Amino acid sequence: MTDGPAAPAGLSSAEAAARLRDVGPNLPPRAHPRSFISRVGDQLRDPMILLLLGAFVVVGALGDVADASIIAAVVVLNTAIGVVQEVRAANALAALDELAAPQATVTRDGQLVRIPGADVAPGDLLRLEAGDVVAADGDVIDAAGLQIDESAMTGESVPVAHGQDEPVLAGTVVTRGRGTAIVSRTGADSGLGRIAAGVLAAGVRPTPLQLRLARLSRQLVLVTLGLAALVLVLGLLRGEALDDMVILAVSLAVAAIPESLPAVVSIALALGAYRMARRSALVKRLPAVETLGSVTVLASDKTGTLTEGRMVVQELWTPTGTWTVTGSGYGADGEVVGGSDGAALEPLLRDLVLCNDAQIDGPEAGQWSIVGDPMEAALLVAAAKHSRTTLASRGQWTRVDEVSFDSVAKRMTTVHRSAADNWLVVCKGAPEAVLELLAEPIGAEAARRAAAELAARGFRVLAVADASYDAPPGADHLHRGLVLRGLVALSDPPRDTAREVVQACRDAGIRTVMITGDHPATARAVADELTITREGPEVADGDAVVRGEHLDQVEQIGVYARTQPEHKVDIVTAWQRRGDVVAMTGDGVNDAPALRKADIGIAMGDRGTEVARQAADLVLADDDLRTVVVAVGEGRRIYANIRRFLRYGLSGGFAEVLVLVAGPFIGIPMPLGPAQILWINMITHGLPGVAFGGEPIDPTDMRRPSPSPEHSVLGNGLLVQILQSGVLIGVVALLAGLVCPDAASVQTWIFLCLGLSQLGVALALRAPRAGFAWRSRGLEGAVLLAGTLQVLAVAWAPLRDLLGTTLISPTAAGAVLALSAVPGSVLVLRRQWHRHRAVRGAT
Ligand code: ADP
Ligand code: MG
Repeated sequence: MTDGPAAPAGLSSAEAAARLRDVGPNLPPRAHPRSFISRVGDQLRDPMILLLLGAFVVVGALGDVADASIIAAVVVLNTAIGVVQEVRAANALAALDELAAPQATVTRDGQLVRIPGADVAPGDLLRLEAGDVVAADGDVIDAAGLQIDESAMTGESVPVAHGQDEPVLAGTVVTRGRGTAIVSRTGADSGLGRIAAGVLAAGVRPTPLQLRLARLSRQLVLVTLGLAALVLVLGLLRGEALDDMVILAVSLAVAAIPESLPAVVSIALALGAYRMARRSALVKRLPAVETLGSVTVLASDKTGTLTEGRMVVQELWTPTGTWTVTGSGYGADGEVVGGSDGAALEPLLRDLVLCNDAQIDGPEAGQWSIVGDPMEAALLVAAAKHSRTTLASRGQWTRVDEVSFDSVAKRMTTVHRSAADNWLVVCKGAPEAVLELLAEPIGAEAARRAAAELAARGFRVLAVADASYDAPPGADHLHRGLVLRGLVALSDPPRDTAREVVQACRDAGIRTVMITGDHPATARAVADELTITREGPEVADGDAVVRGEHLDQVEQIGVYARTQPEHKVDIVTAWQRRGDVVAMTGDGVNDAPALRKADIGIAMGDRGTEVARQAADLVLADDDLRTVVVAVGEGRRIYANIRRFLRYGLSGGFAEVLVLVAGPFIGIPMPLGPAQILWINMITHGLPGVAFGGEPIDPTDMRRPSPSPEHSVLGNGLLVQILQSGVLIGVVALLAGLVCPDAASVQTWIFLCLGLSQLGVALALRAPRAGFAWRSRGLEGAVLLAGTLQVLAVAWAPLRDLLGTTLISPTAAGAVLALSAVPGSVLVLRRQWHRHRAVRGAT
């Protein structure tokens, strides 16, 4: 470690707390929370509500107090529901923000600790590592190859080397190396404040689905106005009174419009995101909730994501012998056994300890605790198994310079100096990246063969070489005179759960593709075990991707090996060109472009770098890939529920229009009174409509991806279904009017039948339930409540007066109920029949 001896000690927790009280938390300035008035104002500006307000004015001017008060009630109720939903959604999103808050590593009380970025105070010692987003402004006091990408500030995306005493700005990204900075400014005073100002100005944009539905509601308003005008004209031609017809036309316009449409969507998205967060899937951008259900390809990193990332050294190879390392994980038990040439083994192990940034502590209860890269820690554990004294070689050889590991060069080099003024350069990395540097290529061929053999057995292989000097080697020819010390074979077993994820994705219609920097043979061995190669038997390497050779056979390629993060963008593009929706995992500094390019960029909450977390759409708080499957299911559920709501709401509105337009032609001039229309509209649309958002997932939705949000929501047969159910409800309601024996009760029969059969349809559209769970009974509850109110409108005298209904006999009520059950029953039977056919078709 290169921490300078005279480094300042950082803050104590008490001092940090005091400073935080003084200067406030290290947070960007926040947008002012929206006021109640402005939220209400927003609701009232909705075109549908505007229409209602217009209706209120017209009806009021005509002196119809009953209808005017009902319209007023509808407006108040809708605005209230809208505001409440919006506040709930805003709260859910704020809670998400908190969960996804950035983190920083600082020295407190002399210890390195990870704290929320908001708790960084001026004077803190901020540790900077590749992949970090700088949490506050500061001055570098110690740096090793530190490079920072300041594009967030300057727009210039060339990483700039930062040495001692140079300032770093909050919001910039560490792309390479390590360093420490002493924090000077935090919060709104820092670079963060400047970035945030830009973000605030951009505001929250509606999602594609919200935009599409907003357009749909505008179209519906136009169509409805046209139909209302038609009803008005037809009525006047029949010789009805102008007043009556105006009121009727206005109520029709009000009825046919699903007011709650935008509210249902925004609440479904925000609450969906919140529910995902409770199951460890943090959604960073709301549109991702829509896209998640449509994912068809999951491109996953291998190391640490599909594999445990808990590596163990299994074999050591030197030109003069091989050794086996026993023991498992980071356990202290185990030995290095085999070869007889101790003189070859010692320098290999020493090099592994020196060219290494990890630390192991302990062992306690037989286990080492590790800090740093798991693979490097595994190298230390192997050295310790041979002899604890090997670990002490760091004391004899002080590190004076280094070229840190990066996934393009695939190697790292360190320069050391001993007390006796001897110099040692050590290089370790992927065999092909190290063997090409050797001064004497003689041994290289044997090493290459050995490395290929080890890789084919599924091991990750490293080559190690070193060179000794009696004078400083000079930065320009670090790699002169390197001599091969040997190879290390590490195993990184697939996670137990990874096979499960691949299978769950397969069942859900999602292809899994593996991407890794490892050797093709190593990668294939793991992919075979995970069954990834079942659909994609080919293995492509990074060079093939650069040449564009993967484009024509993306479907055949299950594994991409020896890739660099830049290649990931090309891999995503190739799938997207086929029309696939791609989810891609990433955790490194250079993964950000691929995470943004993917339809769903996924970062690991714990293991990933801050850069990856900030570029991602979805952060897995538990680092568990299974959570992706959970999130996809949630996305599909939300999409299905929005479609259910549309089917329900639009078919009901369509039925009402049908009854009013067709009624006069079959001898029912005034099928419904205005107040009755509004009542049905308020009760049947409002109550169960909102409850559709809480429906559980239908297992059949888990078998195929939802259509991409680029497609029309009304597509896939939904429009036809809406028209069919609408006609069904409308015809049944008109039939009720025709069979009604008593002319004074015609409106009441139609009113009851229209309302109740819509509720029957709501029940028919429910998602299938497993067992009887009260928690998922929101829809049934809403239907029950709405049904009771619908009956009260006829049974309770004050409501009868308001709505102009008449009391009907129990027999009549029975007949109405039987008729009302028809549309729902038809839908259920149809669904059963389709399922039956689907099952038969499948066998
Ligand atoms: P992966 O996607 O498998 O994590 P990386 O880009 O991290 O791929 O690693 C690519 C190759 O670089 C590895 O197969 C290994 O040979 C080598 N390598 C990885 N980590 C280190 C390291 N810390 N030091 C030296 N070489 C490394
Ligand atoms: Mg790696």
